[in-house]
Amino acid sequence: MGAAITESARTTPSASVTPRRPAVRFDAAIRAAVRQGLLGESRPVAGFVDTDGVRSSVAALREAFAHSPGVLHTFAAKASSLVPVLRLLADCGMGCEVASPGELRLAVEAGFAPGTIVLDSPAKTREEIRLALALGVAVNADSLDELHRIDALRNRDSAAVLGLRVNPQVGGGSIGAMSTATDTSKFGVALRDPGAREAVVRAFEARPWLTRLHAHVGSQGCPLELIAAGVARTYELAEEINERLGTRRITSLDIGGGLPVNFTDDTTHPTYAAYVDALTAAAPGLFSGRYALVTEFGRSLLAKNGFIGARVEYTKDAGGRRIALTHAGAQTATRTVFMPGSWPLRIGAFAADGTPKEGPPLAQDIAGPCCFAGDVVAHGRELPELAEGDFVVLYDTGAYYFSTPWAYNSLPRPAVYGFRSSAPEGEVVFATVREAQTMDAIAAESGLAYADALTVLG
Ligand SMILES: *Cc1c(COP(=O)(O)O)cnc(C)c1O
Repeated sequence: MGAAITESARTTPSASVTPRRPAVRFDAAIRAAVRQGLLGESRPVAGFVDTDGVRSSVAALREAFAHSPGVLHTFAAKASSLVPVLRLLADCGMGCEVASPGELRLAVEAGFAPGTIVLDSPAKTREEIRLALALGVAVNADSLDELHRIDALRNRDSAAVLGLRVNPQVGGGSIGAMSTATDTSKFGVALRDPGAREAVVRAFEARPWLTRLHAHVGSQGCPLELIAAGVARTYELAEEINERLGTRRITSLDIGGGLPVNFTDDTTHPTYAAYVDALTAAAPGLFSGRYALVTEFGRSLLAKNGFIGARVEYTKDAGGRRIALTHAGAQTATRTVFMPGSWPLRIGAFAADGTPKEGPPLAQDIAGPCCFAGDVVAHGRELPELAEGDFVVLYDTGAYYFSTPWAYNSLPRPAVYGFRSSAPEGEVVFATVREAQTMDAIAAESGLAYADALTVLG
């Protein structure tokens, strides 16, 4: 997994730490990354993952569910689709939720046992279903039509746990694109539509191998009570189905993920413990032990354990506005650039030597390298005045940011490094998770091998 690089990071004197600055815990890692050249003129942007932080987030999740022995916690691979990160999570005892053939491949490469992998996706092909069944990974059908496909593809002795995703239609949160349990969501069987509930009961009646119900209410912007209500409706449906079939056919409930992340300061809230409290209040029977449980968390495990560092290439003034032109833009902070109101990020200012910048606050636009005017990750943000060679740090970007880059302007995928700052003697140790994309790789992925393809068509 790449050579370990070590550095003795002298701790920042506390006098230089103003309480308003975010995530002081990363200061030593930022300075070490600059000193070791992981960030600099020729490596102007990179993502970083705090492995101790990831381990402690997983520990908090397990602790919150400690009273429920039959729970499989899976990590939603799309939140950080990097093999070393997935392997770290497997090492922490987690399973993996995947939603595409690519994510399934990454989960297998990362070393998750097939029985700890769950495949969800609203558009699984027959080929994908066949592979999942052959591997023995759990599959949650997204529709009754998909159940018919599984009928045709399933081998009698397949070990795969099979479930059906339902949409409890409990409503959405504050970000429409992150709300999966609205009336018209594309996911699952819309339970409150006319005839749907009865059709679901009959689907279970007809298929003795169908043993799991799945729901994922949503994600960032969804209040805990909404998520808990969706889980409660799913639990009640399982009870109803088991009662009507006269047997405990449904043996497990996959309750999804989606715990929102606080992007406004360093505190972690809501906590997993608060989530479990909300579930207990909404569905007291959920932890009775009658159902094995599966969870699927992504953002809440990784977001606060990662950051992006990017060099300031130029600064300029335009129309009375100060602008810092950096290497962190829409290619690595895509959601924030396109939906700045929904995905605001905290930003830190660091000097060219990687130490926190001091100075009176100045409102500055933090812009990226992409060639469109909206490529700005923060508008009018008050920070110490930035200059060429300084660095900006985008906090809380451990999930869905540097791990899911966008290929706009043929900008390279940024490098990603993992680090440990709690190693003995205050050392910060880095390991390569992914190299920055090379120009050769960009050319190859842009059809270089077929350079003549269109001119020879005539
Ligand atoms: C994305 C997704 C998750 C994880 O969502 P987070 O908000 O990252 O926790 C879980 N389950 C399903 C089905 C998903 O699509």
